[in-house]
Amino acid sequence: MTDTDLDEIPVARPVIGAREKQLVLDVLDSRALSLGPLLGRFERALAARIGVEHVSAVSSGTAGLHLALRAAGIAAGDEVVTTPLSFVASANSILYEGATPVFCDIDPRTLNIDPAAAAAAVGERTAGLLPVHIFGYPAAMAELERTAAARGLWIVEDACEALGAVHGDGPAVGARGNPAVFGFYPNKQLTTGEGGAVVSPDAAAKQRIDSERNQGRAPDMDWLDHDRLGFNYRLSDIACALGVAQLERLDAMLADRARIAALYDAGLGDVDGLELPCPDADGDRRSWFVYVVQVPPGVDRDATIRALREHGIQAKPYLPAIHLMSFYRERFGHRAGEFPVCEDISARSLALPFYPELSEGEVERVVEAVRGVVGGAA
Ligand SMILES: *Cc1c(COP(=O)(O)O)cnc(C)c1O
Repeated sequence: MTDTDLDEIPVARPVIGAREKQLVLDVLDSRALSLGPLLGRFERALAARIGVEHVSAVSSGTAGLHLALRAAGIAAGDEVVTTPLSFVASANSILYEGATPVFCDIDPRTLNIDPAAAAAAVGERTAGLLPVHIFGYPAAMAELERTAAARGLWIVEDACEALGAVHGDGPAVGARGNPAVFGFYPNKQLTTGEGGAVVSPDAAAKQRIDSERNQGRAPDMDWLDHDRLGFNYRLSDIACALGVAQLERLDAMLADRARIAALYDAGLGDVDGLELPCPDADGDRRSWFVYVVQVPPGVDRDATIRALREHGIQAKPYLPAIHLMSFYRERFGHRAGEFPVCEDISARSLALPFYPELSEGEVERVVEAVRGVVGGAA
């Protein structure tokens, strides 16, 4: 099998139907391709879905993290406590403002930041916490919020993998009153091609973010008049149209993802030493984003990926630990051994094909291949 084989089962694949095509065509026909009516329409629909008031659509999740951190008040020289088991954007966004990510270890069950380790990592220069709801599982926000309140810290939530997740203590992920960021890359639960959104705690924060995504222009200012530093982090109306159509089918897509996760759980639950994603507990509800397993200790994860590839199945190491990436090692002197739980999980992690239109037959093919490769090697 090679990368170009048509029947290779990919790791991720968006659902695009007639409604997406129609709404995109409507925008093209309207000639209002950016800062048109679809921007506000997408933002309002998304806000309603999350159960919040203030949402700003932006050009990517990374851009959203950058603007959310600025709105929270990040400053050069600050330290921000965050998790090393994440997509690199969560740590990179801290560096954009001259602040430093301080990593701490993760909870081995949820794979989210360990709140006790986070509290222990808070120091003199710590200004904020940046938890990530990894793989769509809600982070332990209540404990992190207690630490933040006790130490005078702000919180920005990276919810890029968690649209639709719900906390055990009530609110949807993103609706706790902290700035929170969602991402809409094609592998996410909802896609706009590229894109993201920021939930603001109040109207003033939303106004600042709306201005900074558009070169610093205030809402009441004339075209080409700017009263603060800004960026071009706008999301086009073409992308917003995709988002509106995707929101209409979000619940169905989330249900499909949950159904497929249950099929994997049933097919792989008895493979010796193979660790599956944790089930929901304490009222927390995962929004299924990826299906990531940890191969048994002693099994070669990268050889497993190559063997699955030969069965026509794409699998990925997911996620690499951020502190062990060459840029972070060189810039901050990080070394293996600093965060043992994260490093162990990361070295054994394997993302399997997972998307709403994965058929039961394909799930079965993946299950059989994983059982053969991992079961046989254990
Ligand atoms: C997808 C993702 C982002 C944002 O990615 P973009 O490609 O910039 O939209 C940020 N953090 C995490 C954890 C993600 O999974």
